[in-house]
Amino acid sequence: MKVLVADDDADLRDLIAFTLTQAGYLVIKAGDGPTALKRFEDESPDLIVLDINMPGLSGFQVCEAIRRRSRVPVMMLTVRGEEEDLVRALGLGADDYLNKPFSPRTLLARIKALLLDQSALRGVGNIYADESLWRAKIHPMRIAAKLSPNESRKLRKALREILHEAIALRGSSISDFLDVEGRPGEYQRRHRAYGREAKPCYRCKAPIRRAIVAGRSSYFCPKCQLAPESAKRAAKRRKRVTPRHRAAS
Ligand SMILES: [Zn+2]
Repeated sequence: MKVLVADDDADLRDLIAFTLTQAGYLVIKAGDGPTALKRFEDESPDLIVLDINMPGLSGFQVCEAIRRRSRVPVMMLTVRGEEEDLVRALGLGADDYLNKPFSPRTLLARIKALLLDQSALRGVGNIYADESLWRAKIHPMRIAAKLSPNESRKLRKALREILHEAIALRGSSISDFLDVEGRPGEYQRRHRAYGREAKPCYRCKAPIRRAIVAGRSSYFCPKCQLAPESAKRAAKRRKRVTPRHRAAS
């Protein structure tokens, strides 16, 4: 497994690289944004650990550029308490985050969890996106479509709430709570959509469905989260040709 570590703090970069190398990962390092992107292109890493504040291009910009062409798991290094950074990072498609400072044990556990998650589900959709979409009652296929201002507002609000809850649950107990499988935090107990295929929706009892959206698994309630306009139009057309309607015309 190849991991790209991008951080402009040489000491932290070396510490992360040392920890990962000891654990058997092949590590590639970058000290600024443009180098991180170049290494990503040249080396095709299996996972990227990305600092936010870097010269040249920020971690946000690097994450955004990577997401345009790849679903490689991205772990953002964030500063505790900077929740706006988290909201932005996860909004740009980062899969997980780690608050600085962190212990080597936590880093390894979280990276392992992320890689397991990805390999098990072949590019899993990120938990926060699925949970936020469920809360905002927005179908996952709609991400690519144009959301109304009201829907965008609802989604932003849901994402913010979800992140605050997730952060609170991982909180300070994170390094104590991690089990040998590296399960991070307690937030997974609160999932309403993610990982709940065929289980009843907490709102309407309809079975949660799993679909592949943009190459990743996405969990949603087919009843609460209405499909995009195109699907709705198709549904309407189907309705129009039901026997009852045909008899009337
Ligand atoms: Zn539902």
